[in-house]
Amino acid sequence: MTGHSRLAPSSAFRWVPCPLSVALSEEFPALKQDPSGPEGTAAHEVWNWMLDGLVPDVGTLTSERIPVTIEMIDGAWQFVDKIKSIVDPYQAMHKARFEQSLTMHGIHPLMHGTPDADLDLLEECGEYHIGDYKFGHRSVSPFENWQCTGYTFGAFERLGLSPSQIDNSKVFFHIVQPRCFHNRPASGTWETTGRDLRRLWDKMRRSADEAITLETAATPNMGPHCRDCPGRRACPTFRRNAGANIDWVNWSKPVQMDTESAGIELSYVTAALEQLKSYKDALEQQVEFELQQGGFSPHWSMQPTAGRGRDWTIDNETLFAMGDALEIDLRQPAQPITPSQAMSNREFKKKGFDSELIAEYSKPKPGSVALKPKTDTLASRVFGAKKNGMA
Ligand code: SF4
Repeated sequence: MTGHSRLAPSSAFRWVPCPLSVALSEEFPALKQDPSGPEGTAAHEVWNWMLDGLVPDVGTLTSERIPVTIEMIDGAWQFVDKIKSIVDPYQAMHKARFEQSLTMHGIHPLMHGTPDADLDLLEECGEYHIGDYKFGHRSVSPFENWQCTGYTFGAFERLGLSPSQIDNSKVFFHIVQPRCFHNRPASGTWETTGRDLRRLWDKMRRSADEAITLETAATPNMGPHCRDCPGRRACPTFRRNAGANIDWVNWSKPVQMDTESAGIELSYVTAALEQLKSYKDALEQQVEFELQQGGFSPHWSMQPTAGRGRDWTIDNETLFAMGDALEIDLRQPAQPITPSQAMSNREFKKKGFDSELIAEYSKPKPGSVALKPKTDTLASRVFGAKKNGMA
C-alpha cells in the first residue's frame, strides 16, 4: 500500500457522485499546484507537534519550510481540544491513532487512505470517532461525509469487526475547520451508526467498481464537486454545460430586451435582491447580537454612528439666556400644527375640527416618483385595466 490511491477517500466527495472523474483526472491532471496545499500540510504538522506537547513559535519553519502562523497554532489547539474532549472522559488517549494508513479493500482493492485521527472507543462506550482537520476556508459538512465514510470502513476492516458489532457501533464524524467563518462553530459533528453507514458503503462500492472497470466510459455526473475535478478541462459533460451557459449569455447580451422581457428579468432580479437583503439582515442581526453579548468577530465590530441632527447639551433656560445675551431669539417661532398632528388630537375632534374637515383644508404631500411592481391580475395586464366599470 504505497503512493496515492486511485480511489482516495479524500477525493471520494468527487468520485462517488461522478465515477468518470477518476479516469479523467488521471489523464488530465491538475496543471498547477493548489497554493493552499503546502499551507494545509504545514497546519497538519503543527497539530502533530502539539499532540507531542510541543507548541511551536510563530515563524518556525515546518518540514516544507512554511512559516508557522498564529492561525495555525489557534486552529491546532481547536483540533487537539476536540480530540481530548472525546478521549479524556475514558482516559483513552492511547487508543487514538493519528495519521495511520488504512485500507478499504471491502469497498475496492485499490482503496486506501490516511485519516487525521481515528479513535476506537468501542470497548469503552461502543463508539468510533473519525476526526478530520480542514485548514481551508470552504465549509465541509460532516453529514454523510464521503471521506469519513471511507475511513470508517477502513477502521472497521482493520479491527475485523463482525456484522453485528458494526451494526451496533455508534459512529461520529468530526470536522474541525477553524478558518471556515461561514459555518460556525468551527467544529461540526455528525452522529450515525455502523448499520446506517452500510447504505453509503454500498453506493461507494458501486461507484468505485464503475470508475475502475469502465474508466473513461464511466458515468459523468455534474455537481459542485466539478469545481475540484482536475479533469474538468477535458470533460465533455462539463464543456457541454458551460457551452449552454455561454450560448445563453451571448444570446441575451448583444440585443436590448423588449420591455416585457426586461420587466420579467427585473422581477427575477428584484426577488433575488430581496432574498439577499433578507439574508444580509439575518446575518447582521446575528453578528450584532453576538457582539453585544461580548462575542468576537474577526471582520465586524460595533461602532457608534452619527445620528440625524444634534441635541443641546444645556437646558432651555441656559440656552435662551445665552441667546438673549447675544440678542438672538433662540425660542422656536410658533409653527402651525401639521394636519397629521391635528387629526390625532382628540380635543380638536370633540370640537368638530375632525379628519373630514382637516382633509378639506389639506392634501397629501407629494412623494418622489418610483418604479413599483404591478400587483394587478395577469388578465388586466393582458387586456388592459377596466375604466369606469367597463372593460
Ligand atoms: S468535470 Fe464534473 S462531470 Fe466531468 S468528470 Fe469531473 S466531476 Fe465528472
